[in-house]
Amino acid sequence: MKSKPKFETIAIKSTENRCRDSEPVSTPIYLSTTYKRNSDGSYNSDFIYSRIDNPNRKIVEESIAQLENGKYAFAFSSGMAAISAVFQSLKTGDHIILPNDLYYAVKKLMEKVFKSWGLSYDLVEMTNLGEINKAIRPNTSLIWVESPSNPQLKICDISAISKMAHKNNIKCAVDNTWATPVLQNPLQLGADIVMHSNSKYLGGHSDVVGGCIVVNEKILAEKIKSIQLLSGAVPSPFDCWLIARGIQTLHLRVMKQTENAFRLAQYLEKHPKIEKVNYPGLKSHPQHSVAQKQQKNGFGAMLSILIKATEIETFNISTKLKYFTTATSLGGVESLVEHRKSVEGENSPTPANLLRISVGIEHIDDLIADWENALSMNN
Ligand code: PLP
Repeated sequence: MKSKPKFETIAIKSTENRCRDSEPVSTPIYLSTTYKRNSDGSYNSDFIYSRIDNPNRKIVEESIAQLENGKYAFAFSSGMAAISAVFQSLKTGDHIILPNDLYYAVKKLMEKVFKSWGLSYDLVEMTNLGEINKAIRPNTSLIWVESPSNPQLKICDISAISKMAHKNNIKCAVDNTWATPVLQNPLQLGADIVMHSNSKYLGGHSDVVGGCIVVNEKILAEKIKSIQLLSGAVPSPFDCWLIARGIQTLHLRVMKQTENAFRLAQYLEKHPKIEKVNYPGLKSHPQHSVAQKQQKNGFGAMLSILIKATEIETFNISTKLKYFTTATSLGGVESLVEHRKSVEGENSPTPANLLRISVGIEHIDDLIADWENALSMNN
């Protein structure tokens, strides 16, 4: 071709990627949706089209698989998309056992989406093995565990539930969002599926929404991979970059947040205005010994409290705090507080005097002083 390319063509060709040989220490964000094919039809890497896979997602998936001691991990655009992928892997007519205390949107997802696809479910007291056993039906294919649970921090015995599930040819999935892979590895405890909302501790800075699934079994992995790439609820390369960056400080953050939460729980438990503290690290927690057994590095940075107050007084106390922002979500570096019942809506089983607390990395003396002050005010 002898003719000089025109302006528009130069604009495209002159900005083409030429940085192939450099080795930046920090991973670049690979925004490209598509990858060049060679003249023989082959590709120079595993990447073809970014919905199928891309370098930033691969890093996140390989990292989370290692952190969870699993073989295969799949990243999704949200925790709910990851949960949906697990439900989509089931077949019409299947029955799921869900905990009676769990992230409320999961129950909504069953009601509003998957019920009409022919999936049914029962809510059970997941801390009671007898109750789970009673709920098993011939068509039960999945037991969904959330431990610690949202928002009452119930602890379920993951090994015992997995054993019961396998005896009945059922899979056991664990939402490990609140424990994080720093504190708990459900696959090692016998579970088949681990799920995370990456929007929480893995991202860690309240600036990215994402989710993931980790499994060991190849057939299940292939099913989840098909759902991921064909349904297409995938995170963007920038989302993955933020999550990978968050993972680098995950251990430091979670250990510090856990230490702060433990101290705050101990303080609140002794406060005369507090009716009850739900924190698995306290000896008063009904499943403290189960938590000790399965959360190898600590009890986590989430707690909830019941205040000796009416619903409105409880809400008002949350607004008096200076270092705990009244906002939904959790797991970021900043402390948050939330009146859960008013978020979950009318049919919420959450007590009206419950506040959910996500403890951040601020100094513990400031956090305790903040509660001392808020609880001493006339609400
Ligand atoms: N699981 C738990 C325990 C959660 O707390 C949440 C969100 O708050 C989710 C799942 C859903 O995750 P996402 O908001 O990333 O869809």
